[in-house]
Amino acid sequence: MQYAAVNVNGRISDAATAVVPVFDHGFLYGEGVYETLRTYNRRPFLLERHFDRLRASAAAIGLTIPLGDREFAERIDATAAAAPVAGECYIRLLVTRGVGDLSYDPEVCGEPTVIIIVKPHAETPAETRARGIGIIVSSVMRNHPAAVDPRIKSNNLLNNALAMQEALRRGAKEALMRNHRGEFSECSQSNFFLVSGGEALTPPLEAGLLEGVTRDFVFKVARSVGVPARYAVLRDADLAHADEMFITSTTREVLPVTVVDGRPVGAGAPGPVTRALADGFRARVNELCREPARSQA
Ligand code: PMP
Repeated sequence: MQYAAVNVNGRISDAATAVVPVFDHGFLYGEGVYETLRTYNRRPFLLERHFDRLRASAAAIGLTIPLGDREFAERIDATAAAAPVAGECYIRLLVTRGVGDLSYDPEVCGEPTVIIIVKPHAETPAETRARGIGIIVSSVMRNHPAAVDPRIKSNNLLNNALAMQEALRRGAKEALMRNHRGEFSECSQSNFFLVSGGEALTPPLEAGLLEGVTRDFVFKVARSVGVPARYAVLRDADLAHADEMFITSTTREVLPVTVVDGRPVGAGAPGPVTRALADGFRARVNELCREPARSQA
């Protein structure tokens, strides 16, 4: 069954037949960067922000993206048009070091490999949004920024995968990670917010985390719906005083967290601040993405 359209260096095929050479340093060493996007009304949401972050991630590992934004966007459109997707799309962009040899030397690699994967976006069920999810505080520490900086959205995802494996083993839907100082940084694949005294608080970049596109967008939504939001160093002790919690990401938007390590958060149901931000997020998305993509109109 054709499940996704995959574009490898400009050639589109399906999930079963798309391949990259084993000597690609993306495969050998996780040397590459990526972005995850989704569409609303079949338009990639906040595409420029994702391009900017992709370029920043690439620069941080000494990699140049071999396409301009316009050419990249056209390639995404062509891949989406070929994808077996009736509704909204999940889009993953990957750029790796390219095909080299068994050596860390980037000089031995040719052109970077550019991959675009488009598959159906899996919407979070309304019931999950209404109930909220359970998360764990992971025993896996987030990468030290002086080792592999979490600000780099790299294909080197073992740190995240190990934390999430722990969450899955414990029946949870996400893993909250601490940094080397014991402060919370972020979750395995989302940013973390805690609500206390009516304020939405999230760890600062110095805690060692990915600057989430959704995290930034939520700050704008917070201003428009009148919720105070700020960066704050958060530790284990803060969990006990939290009235609400939520996570943010491109695919999960603003998603309430109602259980941490098996214990209910606040009243054990999504709270008013989280709901205001989740509703405000959707309202803003609807304003920005009212027009369907031209090819779909
Ligand atoms: N942190 C990590 C580690 C992630 O993988 C993601 C998902 N891309 C996020 C945060 C959320 O980022 P965004 O809002 O840009 O999707």
